[in-house]
Formats: sequence, C-alpha cells, structure tokens
Amino acid sequence: MNKRKVLVVVAGFGLMLASAASTLAVLYTLNPVDNKPAKIATQRQAKLKTTQQKPTSTDQKKKTKPAQPEKTKKSSLKKSDKSTKSCNTDTAHADPNRIDVIANKKHCLKPLNYAPKDLVNVEGALLRAPAATHYRQMLIDARKAGVGFRVSSSYRSYKSQTATYNYWLRQGKKKADTHSARPGYSEHQTGLTADLVVGNCSLNCFAGTKAYVWLVKNAHKYGFIERYPRGKTNITGYVYESWHWRYVGRKTATDMKQKNIKTLEEYWGIAGGGYSH
Ligand SMILES: [Zn+2]
Repeated sequence: MNKRKVLVVVAGFGLMLASAASTLAVLYTLNPVDNKPAKIATQRQAKLKTTQQKPTSTDQKKKTKPAQPEKTKKSSLKKSDKSTKSCNTDTAHADPNRIDVIANKKHCLKPLNYAPKDLVNVEGALLRAPAATHYRQMLIDARKAGVGFRVSSSYRSYKSQTATYNYWLRQGKKKADTHSARPGYSEHQTGLTADLVVGNCSLNCFAGTKAYVWLVKNAHKYGFIERYPRGKTNITGYVYESWHWRYVGRKTATDMKQKNIKTLEEYWGIAGGGYSH
C-alpha cells in the first residue's frame, strides 16, 4: 500500500515537471522570422498591426496558456482595441456597398480587403454599375462640349493598393501617407472613384485643362464631386487632387454644390484629416 502511494506521488511530481517544462518551451519558442522570443514578437505585432480579423496562432496559444503573466495580456488587449478604434467605421456611411460610403484616413473599409461585385468597364474605367452609368453619360456630354477626358486609374483592388502604397513607402512613411492611401483606406477600392487625364496631361496638369473647368461646373449633374479640393487638406487628409473625382449620386452632389460644401467630411459631419496612428 505505502509503496503504491509513493509511486503515485512520484508519478504526480513527474507530470508537474513535464507540464512546467512544456510551458517554458512555449514561452521561449524562437520566432522563425527574426529569431526573437515569440513573447516579444507578439507585442511588436500588436504595435504594428492596425486591424486583425482573425487571431493569429500565437494569439490562440496565448489564450490557452495559463502561465502567461496577466500584465502582458492586458496591455496587448489595450493596444488591439486602440487599433480598431483608429480604423473606426462606426458611422452611417460604413457600408462599402452603398454609394454614400466614406473612405478616408479615419475610416477604413470593412472588410479591409472589400471588393465590389458590380464593376463595369467604360472605355477602360472600372467602376461600380451606378457610377459607371453616370460616368458614361458625363463623358458623352463632355465630348459634345469639346472637352473629352479619359480615366488613368479607377477601381483599385486591396492588393494593387498595397503595391502602390509600398512603392511610396520606399521614400518614407510620411511621403507614402501623403501621396497614397493605405490599403483598405483608399476611395479607389470602393469602385466609385476615377482619376482623370487629358492626353498626356495628368495629375497637377489636369487643373489647367478645359475639361477640369467643365467638370467643376457640371460634374454634380452626373453625381460626381471633386473629392480633394484645394485648401482642404486638413479636412480630407489629402493634398489638392484636381484629377480625382468621386461618384456620390446626383442628389448629394447637387446638394453640396448648392450649399457650397466642398468636402464629404463637412457635408456628412464626420471625422477626416490624417491617420490616427
Ligand atoms: Zn485618385
């Protein structure tokens, strides 16, 4: 009897040692990317990540790990909460399938990799069906007035926006955030936006064209607005972009024109400007 008791105690102690050893092994597993302990790598990821739809395998490990210190757990949660808030889409304009969706540096698209299902090609311009119909008519009428234009960039996928942003990122984060939207934050990803050119006259050159003058006067009749007007950078978060036109529907565009309200942020009363982080 005593012998058996001793055996049970020894076996129990052995099990405890084994479980402690495996906990230590999980805590100090090396990250395969940068050879840093996984615990530190997880904290760094929480800092860098803006949105996370699925918990990573490391996060899942953390939840089932009883030995994780309470302090680390709390600070990681706080960080991820903050990240979600900075990409807040909790407004009446959060639905990416609606033509009144907002996409700016304070409001990302949800899901971040949203892709419209009704894209239509109008002479190389890839736009959502409602925008495409009105863009086609606007183009016909502009040509009649002798001020034709074409699209240089319209719908851009999450993937291609990532490539564009990364291109600018090589010249620094500040430059990238000034000249390109972060993936998931771009209006081009909504399929409601077109960058316009006349011949070889693109970007800043476009403001000097007759087409631009015609658009400023007439685009609202087709539901389009100049999205990043001059002198509104602190509100839109973007420098003056005479070439970037956004479809919002005839009602909104005409009302904005009549009330002389230049930006969607002011018209809808929602936050704009730079990124929160
Ligand atoms: Zn654009």
